[in-house]
Amino acid sequence: MNLSKSKYCKAVQCEKMLWLDKYKKEVKEEIDNESVLENGTNVGELAKKLFGNYLNIEFNNDLNKMIDDTKRALENDTVIITEASFVYNNNFCSVDILKKDGDKYEMYEVKSSTHISDIYLDDISYQYYVLTSLGLNITKASIVYINSSYVRQGELELDKLFKIKDLTDIVISKQEEVARRILELESVMKSKKEPKVDLGNQCFSPYDCPFFKYCSRHLPEKNVFDIKGLYLNKKVEYYKKGIISYEDLINSDISNKYKEVIDFELNDKEDKINSEEIKKFLKSLYYPIYYLDFESYQESVPSYDGISPYMQVPFQYSLHIENKDGTLNHKEFLAEGGIDPRRVLAERLVKDIPRDSCVLAYNMSFEKRVIKYLAGLYEDLSDDLMNIHDNIKDLMIPFQNRSYYSKNMHGSYSIKYVLPSLYPDDPSLDYHNLSMVHNGSEASDSYFKLSTLSGAELKELRENMLKYCGLDTYAMVKVLKKLKDSI
Ligand code: SF4
Repeated sequence: MNLSKSKYCKAVQCEKMLWLDKYKKEVKEEIDNESVLENGTNVGELAKKLFGNYLNIEFNNDLNKMIDDTKRALENDTVIITEASFVYNNNFCSVDILKKDGDKYEMYEVKSSTHISDIYLDDISYQYYVLTSLGLNITKASIVYINSSYVRQGELELDKLFKIKDLTDIVISKQEEVARRILELESVMKSKKEPKVDLGNQCFSPYDCPFFKYCSRHLPEKNVFDIKGLYLNKKVEYYKKGIISYEDLINSDISNKYKEVIDFELNDKEDKINSEEIKKFLKSLYYPIYYLDFESYQESVPSYDGISPYMQVPFQYSLHIENKDGTLNHKEFLAEGGIDPRRVLAERLVKDIPRDSCVLAYNMSFEKRVIKYLAGLYEDLSDDLMNIHDNIKDLMIPFQNRSYYSKNMHGSYSIKYVLPSLYPDDPSLDYHNLSMVHNGSEASDSYFKLSTLSGAELKELRENMLKYCGLDTYAMVKVLKKLKDSI
């Protein structure tokens, strides 16, 4: 078979990507474009239940078997078929949900996203093309996606969790484009010659391309695509104008904010320290300081009441407490796996942080959002939670303002860059030296795993999760120390 839905969508992003995937796989890099776990609840499976009883065409590596099974199901007048599979001129597709009504059909593509992006339209337009080319009378082409404003209360209400958008008119208007693209792709894929496609927005949108390193190998090591915080459109605009290297950029009209970063990179400058600003920040703090960091998970399908799809649900925190004499205490919380962690976490948090304490977070908007959400849920804890919320200060500010800037921050104020640039050779602050859990997404994966483990395995994972989160707040203690030392 030539094409599938996913290959077609890849080619819509960039035909060279599809070609490289076939002929130069060895230059492909691993890229994780999936940011949210489904936590075992498969959105696709749930969406199918929206339509009542259905017959599922089992996946088979032999696609012809799936196509034959579909034919049989249609001959038997099955009303709802999931993964109904078809091929037209070597172009294959499986339709998530196909509804048969006499000689008319409706097709539904399921997405676990909360919005409809352009690439979904290409996806369903390709399917429509295959089915209508085979002579099927498709009266409706729709996308089923997640309703972000749904809040679970009691049993899951599938009709509220999902939204369905009828896109038939748009899909029909794209049919000429699909036919043309399929023809073009046939010749591109037959050719052994690498297609000539220049770098552009398509390298990062809608998904990061795994061949970027290969395609950008002609660029200087430090180039416009490395500038943190600069909009993609702007990067591409400079690239197309030939303003590519850092030397080019420093002489361009790029804003001073970026010129400063480039200046540091090119000229190996000493750290920039604005003592007055740092003093002002330090003055706003008072002891004991409670360094707070949450870990949270997101689910497309909320497991508990009061949760919306993709809401951040906190399950763990670490709290380092620094006294005026520099001594440290540590408190931590990690919910049991398989339970609703919110209430227990909120109760512990208000016990662990006395009222009117000075609370420090790094990028506090996340911690504030979580605490405000918990305060809205639990009236009896609301006052104490909002007291914590109102007393949070942000350790990121001096770095965001560049009151402290060092070359190795590379224009970023994320703690991922700030910490190693302040402590380049400290193995105790190196997340690579942790085992099992090294970042937030591994922490949330691990939380979901807890309920499946027991005994030594459970103990080991919990310990490593605690170590990871503990390092987050210990790192903040060290970052503040560096600020204090700098003045
Ligand atoms: S890096 Fe850009 S040009 Fe190269 S294959 Fe990917 S999308 Fe196409």
